[in-house]
Formats: sequence, structure tokens, C-alpha cells
Amino acid sequence: MPLLPDHLIAGYRNFITGRYVSESDHYRSLAREGQAPETMIIACCDSRTAPETVFDAGPGELFVLRNVANLIPPYEPDGEYHSTSAALEFAVQSLKVKNIVVMGHGRCGGIKAALSHNSAMPLSPGDFIGKWMSLISPAADTVAASTMMTTGERATALERISIRYSIANLRTFPCIKILEDKGKLALHGAWFDVSTGELWAMNKATGDFERPEIG
Ligand SMILES: [Zn+2]
Repeated sequence: MPLLPDHLIAGYRNFITGRYVSESDHYRSLAREGQAPETMIIACCDSRTAPETVFDAGPGELFVLRNVANLIPPYEPDGEYHSTSAALEFAVQSLKVKNIVVMGHGRCGGIKAALSHNSAMPLSPGDFIGKWMSLISPAADTVAASTMMTTGERATALERISIRYSIANLRTFPCIKILEDKGKLALHGAWFDVSTGELWAMNKATGDFERPEIG
């Protein structure tokens, strides 16, 4: 029985003999100085949407949080376990990131589940995904009821609505709201289309998603 799956060992062999060698000074400096990423990205767990790949980022560059459907729950200091909120707190208060980007994506399985199983009909009793996706169930129920839209249009709509919703919830965290009001922290939305590679960014004034100029 191998200690790790073969494809992981093969990938690690490439990394340690390739990228790690060419960037060893950078890794040593990061180890010595600690990390100081300026940007936090909140993305989906989906294997096709790794922010480090999409933004061509190296070690130390992005502080990444991934969860199902890149959702931010509202600020709830209730003594329960909140992994997403803990990561936010660390990024904002300890690392003092300057940007937080909520990045959704096309063909998101979590969003699809939210659309096909509304709050009145959870995926299964006591399941985790159903409870987690119930964060956006009012929007999911509304979008799911829109019979004028195709299945794909409904998914894209909810993927983008949920990004705006998560950004609104970021502002329920007092530390984030204060820093944003002072101009020390910027909140952004982005949406990555897995099938075409297109990146769309949220216009802060309108909430619409637009293709950024990439030169
Ligand atoms: Zn997803």
C-alpha cells in the first residue's frame, strides 16, 4: 500500500526537482520573513478553479480560503466552529491583507445543488451541503422559480448573486467594515468560466460582472 497516491508522488517529484529548485531563494526568504500576502481569495473547492492557477500566483502571494460554492456566512460570534470566519479574521487582523476577492465560477456543483434542492427539500436530513447552501436559499428559491430562464442561465445568475451576497456578508464583520470604510481594505467579486477560461469582475457601482481589460 503506497503512503500516498502515485500521481501525488509524481507531482511532488516534479515540484521538488523543478519549481522548488528555481524558486528556492524565494521559499527560503518566505520561511525566514514569514508570509505577507496582500490579497485573500475566497474560492470554491472545485478542482477546476484553483486561484493560484487562474492568477498564475507563486508561493506567498495569495492567502486562499476554499469552501463549497465560495460562500461567506454572516458574522456570528456564537461560540460555534466557524472555519471561514476564522480564516477571514486571520487574513484581516494578522496578515492585514489589502484585498479580499470572492471568486465564484461557472458550472458550480454547490450552486446547482442549491437550485435543485430548495430549502423545503434538503439533500438529505441533517446533511452538511444542504445546511451550508441554505445560506443562499432565499435567492436560490427565487432564481429556481424563474421559468423564463434556462437551466444554465439560472446557474450563472445564482453564481453571481451569491458572490454579491457573500460580499455583503463580509461587511457584517466589524473588522472588515471598519477597514473598508477607512479605505484600507477593498472587497472584490470575480467569476471564472471553467469552459472558456474567461474571468469576469464585479463592477462595484452596479454589481454587474464585466470582462476586465487584460492588455
Ligand atoms: Zn463550485
